[in-house]
Amino acid sequence: MSTYPQRVADNILPLSVAGTLPEAFKEWYFTENVQDHELADEECELCNQEHVRYHFEIKNRNTNHHLRVGSSCILKFQIQVFENDKLLDAKSSKRKLEQIKNKIRLDSCIEALKRLSMKEPNDILKNALEFYLKNKYLTPKFAFVVFWRLSNHQIEHSPSFFKVSLKKDKYKKDLMQMPLNHVHVIWSALSSVQREKAIKYGHTPPNSVQ
Ligand SMILES: [Zn+2]
Repeated sequence: MSTYPQRVADNILPLSVAGTLPEAFKEWYFTENVQDHELADEECELCNQEHVRYHFEIKNRNTNHHLRVGSSCILKFQIQVFENDKLLDAKSSKRKLEQIKNKIRLDSCIEALKRLSMKEPNDILKNALEFYLKNKYLTPKFAFVVFWRLSNHQIEHSPSFFKVSLKKDKYKKDLMQMPLNHVHVIWSALSSVQREKAIKYGHTPPNSVQ
């Protein structure tokens, strides 16, 4: 079985003018095309690693060849990332790729909420959608209703993409008083800090042995 650096070289050198690495990488740039496959089971065409959910397209400016790769490979091999025709440094490239992923996540949450409120037209779900569009997060109570109804209607969604806010005292109190089975429904949308908070409020994580 070929090694990781060998695989990368085998994939990129035949599509490049330069015959060696890292020279060949300098011919490539990120095209801004991103594809969300919804499940993390695609392959990075550069390193052949599987479990890629988002395909970022890179292009060789000399040969016009394309590859669909994971964002980590763009950063690892310093493939050029531009913003308004300006070449970004490593830190800004990372920020830009993160922003793109965040935007896709936000859009997929909004899409799920829209489908839900069409499927089940009621005020709570309509308000949840309006609230999410305005604030880009859900309250703990909204999150429970939304995840419960999304699952009920078998609407495709990624709970971890939704953001839940505990910024206001009311949201904290709502989480504190929430029945444990409801807390478990929203668990995957909580950040690690929020999970710690939930545990402090006396809740236990899902599947934890007591
Ligand atoms: Zn890769």
